[in-house]
Parts: sequence; C-alpha cells; structure tokens
Amino acid sequence: MRRVALLGATGSIGRQAIEIVDAHPELELVAVAAGARGDEVRAIARERGVAHVSVGGEPPLDALVEACEPDVVLNAVVGFAGLPATLAALEAGIDLALANKESLVAAGELALAALARGGGRILPVDSEHSALFQCLEGRVAETVDTLVLTASGGPFRGRSAGELDGVTAAEALAHPTWAMGPKITIDSATLMNKGLELIEAHFLFRIPYERIEVVVHPSSIVHSLVRFRDGAALAHLGYPDMRVPISYALTYPERAPTPIPPLDLGAGLTLEFHAPDEGTFPCLSLARAAGRAGGSAPCVLNAANEVAVAAFLAGELPFRGIPAVVERVLEAASAPPARDLADLVEIDAAARRAAATAANELAVAVR
Ligand code: NAD
Ligand code: MG
Repeated sequence: MRRVALLGATGSIGRQAIEIVDAHPELELVAVAAGARGDEVRAIARERGVAHVSVGGEPPLDALVEACEPDVVLNAVVGFAGLPATLAALEAGIDLALANKESLVAAGELALAALARGGGRILPVDSEHSALFQCLEGRVAETVDTLVLTASGGPFRGRSAGELDGVTAAEALAHPTWAMGPKITIDSATLMNKGLELIEAHFLFRIPYERIEVVVHPSSIVHSLVRFRDGAALAHLGYPDMRVPISYALTYPERAPTPIPPLDLGAGLTLEFHAPDEGTFPCLSLARAAGRAGGSAPCVLNAANEVAVAAFLAGELPFRGIPAVVERVLEAASAPPARDLADLVEIDAAARRAAATAANELAVAVR
C-alpha cells in the first residue's frame, strides 16, 4: 500500500488524481485538502474513510502532511500557497509528487536544500517534467546535452501583439489541448507557464538555463525531449492527458495501467515544431531572465504573475498588462536570496503589493 496525501483535491489535477487512486487498489488516500468547497472535500474524505482533512488552511498544510504519515504527498495546490507543504514533505523525506510548480519556482534553492536534508524524492507531475524525468532515468549526467520543453502555444498562438489587445478572460480560458484550472490556463496563454516550467526544470534536473530550450508544438503529443551528446534525442509521446503523469508519479516506478488508450499511429500523426514568439509573448523571456538572475527573482516573478493573472481574470487588467506588471515589479525588486521560508513569505508579499500597484496604474492608463 502507498499512503497518499492529496493537497488541492477539488482542482483539475486533484480530481484526476482521485480517479487514479480509486482505480488502483494499492493506493490509499490518507489526507485531502483544498482551499475552499469544504462540503465537497468532506464528501471525498467520507466516501473513502480519509481521517485527515484540511479546508482553507485549517489545519495548515504542513501540519496536515506531518500528521497523516503519508508515503507520498501529491501537491496539486495552485500558486505560492503550496510552498509550506512542498517544504514540509521534502524536509521529512516524504516522496513529493509535484504538480504545484509555483513552489519550486519560488523556492528552488530552499526546496533542494530540504530535499538533500530529508533524503526523499521529487516525482514530477507536470507533464513536460514527467516526460523529461522518464527520458533521463538511468542516464549519466555528462551525456545530456539539452532539455527541450514543448509548449502548445496556447489559444493565441500565431497572433501578433496588436491582435492580443482586447482579448477577454473567456477567450484566454479556451485552451486548445489541455483542460486545466484557470490560473495555469492563463499562464499557458501568456507563455508564462513555459517560463515557470523552465525554472522548474532547472531546479528539478539541475541543468543550466542555457541548456534548456522551449519549442512550440501545437498538438501536445510530444511532452518533451532530451538531446544527448551523441546526437540522439529521446522524446516522450502520448495523448495530452494528465492522468498519465499523475499515475506515473503515484505508482513510480511500477507504471500502473491507466484507462488512457495507446497512441494510435495508424490514424496518422504529423508532428509540428517551431520557435516560440517571445516578442509577442514576453513572459517566457521574463522568466528566463528571472531564473538566470537567481536569488529571489523567480519568487518575485511568480508573485507578480499571480497578482496580474488574478487581475486579468477579474477583468481589471488587459491581457498584455500581465507581462507589463511582471516586468515592472521585477525591474524594481532587488531580489536577494532568501534564507528561509519566512524570508520568502516577506519577499512574496512585497512583490504582491508592488504588482497590485502596477496593475492599478496600468489599468488606469488603458482606460
Ligand atoms: P485548480 O485551480 O483546478 O485547483 C487548485 C486546487 O488548489 C483546488 O483544490 C483549490 O481548492 C486548492 N487550493 C487553492 N488555494 C489553496 C490554499 N491556500 N490552501 C489549500 N488548497 C488550496 O488548479 P489545477 O489546474 O489543478 O493546478 C494545480 C497545480 O498543478 C498548479 O500549480 C498548476 O500549475 C499545476 N499543473 C496543473 C495542470 C493541469 O492540467 N491542471 C498541469 C500541470 C501542472
Ligand atoms: Mg506542463
């Protein structure tokens, strides 16, 4: 039996994870948590005899992780709110199935230090990182040339900057290949999702930014690739379905069966790749710059982005205001390295205040 603590149980990843756990007799849910919708969380717990429940941070997620003695924590909370649970799992040496990329982006150095102290593992759930993890398994580090992250390009792929003026939240929420929660769907439309994933890959696989590439691949069949020094490239292919990487992380290294059909090549499959348009979608370059700057710059980037995305979803900021807010906040921040979680919480809060101000100013300028 593997005891699973599921954080973010009511979300897009959370609901798919429940499906995987329910279908696999060797997985047992021992804790469920969500930010809201207490009735739904308690129903999930009651139907499965789960003793540990947290709603709206009560009890806090790090305390929940400590209390429920899981073998694996699936962190599927959205945003910086997932950070204490990530650090608690790593510090305790518990396997961390990580969907909450924001925690690794904001606290990469602290997370790796906690991982080293705890002696556990991070099992990536993000589809690109699960793909890379599988392509890299058993390889010698020196043989790896580059990591290649694939991006669908989102609903606005191919548009010019001017054609992004006036796009609505509803248009941005209509993702062509993946059905996901609202925050990551907007991140996919701005390409910030790929920017966050770049930083995530840097910390997960300890590869310098110069050796991580992003390509646009609209059909989302190739989930990522690794190029090796002998000219070979290994790719991970499959239909875009998050149940595959969730199942892989929860049943690692067993690779349990899932209900997803095998890839049908007889039906015809054309793979298209091209370079991302970083001029029109500047979030990717902003993330790369923040990653390279290091210190707490990725935390600042993430905080500013969370505020800007929320403002866009609320109809208070235009789409192109998202990179504008992030850029302003990054430019003004000194972003020193954080010593601990308390430091980072302060840096995150200051970046959020700066982003709220920038978003207000930009919204006024547009009106
Ligand atoms: P979602 O919005 O659908 O769900 C988020 C979950 O987090 C909900 O259960 C919500 O209640 C919970 N939550 C929010 N704030 C919380 C708080 N303060 N305390 C406790 N719980 C809180 O989001 P999602 O699309 O499932 O994404 C979750 C994470 O997985 C994100 O970091 C996202 O980037 C990542 N991810 C998602 C997908 C996907 O297909 N949805 C793919 C790759 C990575
Ligand atoms: Mg992804």
